[in-house]
Amino acid sequence: MISVILPSYNEEKMIQTAADTVAGILKSENIAYELVFVDDGSKDKTWENIVLANKNDPCVTGVHFSRNFGKEAAMFAGLEKARGDCCVVIDCDLQHPPEKIVEMYRLWEQGYEVVEGIKEDRGEESAFHKFAANSFYSLISGATGMDMASSSDFKLLDRKVVDTLNSLPERNVFFRALSFWVGYRKATVYYSVQERTAGESKWSTKALVKYALTNITSFSSAPLHIITVLGFVMMAISVVFGVIALVQKLNGAAVAGFTTVIILLLFASSAIMISLGIIGYYVARIYDEIKGRPRYIISQMIGEGYDR
Ligand code: UDP
Ligand code: MG
Repeated sequence: MISVILPSYNEEKMIQTAADTVAGILKSENIAYELVFVDDGSKDKTWENIVLANKNDPCVTGVHFSRNFGKEAAMFAGLEKARGDCCVVIDCDLQHPPEKIVEMYRLWEQGYEVVEGIKEDRGEESAFHKFAANSFYSLISGATGMDMASSSDFKLLDRKVVDTLNSLPERNVFFRALSFWVGYRKATVYYSVQERTAGESKWSTKALVKYALTNITSFSSAPLHIITVLGFVMMAISVVFGVIALVQKLNGAAVAGFTTVIILLLFASSAIMISLGIIGYYVARIYDEIKGRPRYIISQMIGEGYDR
């Protein structure tokens, strides 16, 4: 059986369409399935529609969060609840073409354990968004040592991989990179991002910046190393200036040099503050992890064996 995980946040218009489309495709290919909708604390009728979809097709199951925990949490909740021999994560706005699930499934049958969905193009996005996404992915690719450009959350994972991911103890998870990090036999499927047919994108620029920062710090300690490098550069500069100052002093020609002093002082203090900020960010992340709070809180579930 294949479990299709659909994180959904304020997607009331999409639930039934998504359920019908995905179920229709899988039925026509004779693939046994379950659809796991994860309602990420929606404020609209998403949960009611999931319950309705479950009445129409008992293979539809649902998990309802007590509040919005974010897409990462929703995907991991889906992976934890899924019972299939393989799991696919797909956006419930159908921007990931559901026909590709079949292609992924066939690759899985051939023995691939992770099937990555790779974007052929990024769809309609602003120039700024493209630039930010590119910089983010080159940073993350550098940090993980894997080419993550054009990767997405659309992927199929074998049961083994799902169990591995479920056993990771960390609170702050970054699904896209973790599925690279775990290894296993990989295949790729190319797809082009579809237009959204209903509802709107949930990602504001602020949310994306936060997402980028969180994921960079959870996968890379490069910013901390940059601080050390910066420290050495500043030390080299101070040796040069120190020698110059000493020589001038010994020659009895110590200049007023007020401008230099001010510039150095301002530069050094801002460098120190930025460095402290970066370190502080990591400390905050350690604090988050050490509190050990759950990734999400489930308030309701629906579907066979899920009822509560
Ligand atoms: N989503 C979610 N929780 C959130 C934000 C988004 O579960 O806090 C889901 C959303 O319902 C959709 C998927 O994640 O199924 C992708 O979101 P969206 O379409 O808004 O992102 P975009 O396609 O614009 O990158
Ligand atoms: Mg979308």
